[in-house]
Amino acid sequence: MSARWAAVSDFDGTITLRDVGDHLLLHYGFADKKTIEESYSLKVRVEDFMKRAFAGAALTEKTIADFVRKKVKARRGFRDFIVFCEESGVPFEIVSGGVDLYADPFFRAHGVKVRSFFGRARVVKGGIRITYPFLRRMDLSSFKEARVLRQKRAGRRVVFFGDGPNDLKAAAAADKVYAAGRLYRLCRERGIAASRLEDFSRAASFLRKNS
Ligand SMILES: [Mg+2]
Repeated sequence: MSARWAAVSDFDGTITLRDVGDHLLLHYGFADKKTIEESYSLKVRVEDFMKRAFAGAALTEKTIADFVRKKVKARRGFRDFIVFCEESGVPFEIVSGGVDLYADPFFRAHGVKVRSFFGRARVVKGGIRITYPFLRRMDLSSFKEARVLRQKRAGRRVVFFGDGPNDLKAAAAADKVYAAGRLYRLCRERGIAASRLEDFSRAASFLRKNS
């Protein structure tokens, strides 16, 4: 039994192979590579970047849903990992600076329902308005950490999955980290133990062995 673990995960670039927000902005020409690159500074709040970048992104719900179906790829083992968590009683949740407009079609396409926190995006004249009702006064990076700490207070060990600088606090608070991309490098630099996130099935084996 793995009942004493909980799993918390980022979405963009973690559950998906590429950051969906960035991919959308680049694909439709609403941001350039330099702007995207700068958004990954530890000093930039992802939620502020998202609001700004999408404010002028004139995209419809349908365009986004079609884009998700055609272009967005899930990391291998994701669906099986969700099933594993359900069967093993491991609470799993996603905490993301991404938005419902692309997350909903993604989960529909994969036939999974997961507890999650995403920004709320609404198509308005000339762009998309994004809000993060769950953040209140906290920033996203602290909120991710808070979700990890909440599980620890409940007596569970936490496995965290992420890929970005805004996942660093949560990673530092977790008991086991699977990191991709920039997060992996940041963890290495700061002496935070992290395994490379390639495929979710390795995490399932790890939880099975360590329960
Ligand atoms: Mg990410």
